[in-house]
Amino acid sequence: ATPTALLVGTGRGAQLGILIKGPEVLESTREVDTVVLDKTGTVTAGKMSLTDLYGADETDVLRLAAAVEHASEHPIARAIVEAAQERLGDLPPVERFRNVEGLGVLGEVEGKTVLAGRTSLLEQHGITLGEEFSQAKTAAEERGATAVVVAWDGEARGVVVVADTVKPTSKQAVKELRALGLRPVLLTGDNTGSAKAVAAEVGIDEVVAEVLPADKVEVVKRLQAEGRVVAMVGDGVNDAAALAQADLGLSMGTGTDAAIEAGDLTLVRGDLRAAVDAIRLSRRTLATIK
Ligand code: ADP
Ligand code: MG
Repeated sequence: ATPTALLVGTGRGAQLGILIKGPEVLESTREVDTVVLDKTGTVTAGKMSLTDLYGADETDVLRLAAAVEHASEHPIARAIVEAAQERLGDLPPVERFRNVEGLGVLGEVEGKTVLAGRTSLLEQHGITLGEEFSQAKTAAEERGATAVVVAWDGEARGVVVVADTVKPTSKQAVKELRALGLRPVLLTGDNTGSAKAVAAEVGIDEVVAEVLPADKVEVVKRLQAEGRVVAMVGDGVNDAAALAQADLGLSMGTGTDAAIEAGDLTLVRGDLRAAVDAIRLSRRTLATIK
């Protein structure tokens, strides 16, 4: 039989906006010492918008990049498409679209093979970024923004910069996690510069960046192998395996179905402070049982 305290804890969780899959979930938070936080959509709002545009012909860069991104559902893609439609109206169609997980997108637009994403995506196609665009990219990343490099017909043509904002509650949540004796780790597929800027803004000093979607779970496993008991907070399809692997998986209620299914707990409002509430609640509940 399930101890009454666990059931009471579950009910209290619901009041706090925390949905718990089963009463036994609360027990697994007992020894958690590390909280891995996905960046985009978890610590940040995940709502990106276009901030800068570079290229000999900025309109071409935006139109062609947006045409390819139209077929993607990534928050970066949405920001680029939204800005392009606002400024340029309808976008040309894309053919032979391909999404390269964690790297970017490519496809044919107006007879050109267009690539948009990370520098390594261009490099995979034998394209180098060049000095001017490299500088634009570095400057953007130092501000915590994400630079999407754009190439077509075998040459780098421009950079589209998108930026996200840190959720107003994230900094306070990190502070409270620390007060509970937990070590926060920021985990992201995004570039190191941007990840470090966001980490500094919310007060996290342990950062694992440029992690491919399939490797997020490996980061959790590595921490566990070091003897750490890991809670993971995430929202994306690319977080699902890591959420399942973690000793405690907390998914953002504002996130994808895949993440919600993989987690043990759902933070209904997508507010990171609820992760703190969940861990506190569990500790209190277990103290009642012991
Ligand atoms: P996160 O872990 O921050 O949610 P992802 O694993 O989804 O990030 O993506 C990692 C990086 O790959 C992004 O920061 C971006 O640089 C690049 N990327 C992924 N998808 C796209 C896309 N559709 N367009 C441009 N860049 C992309
Ligand atoms: Mg995410």
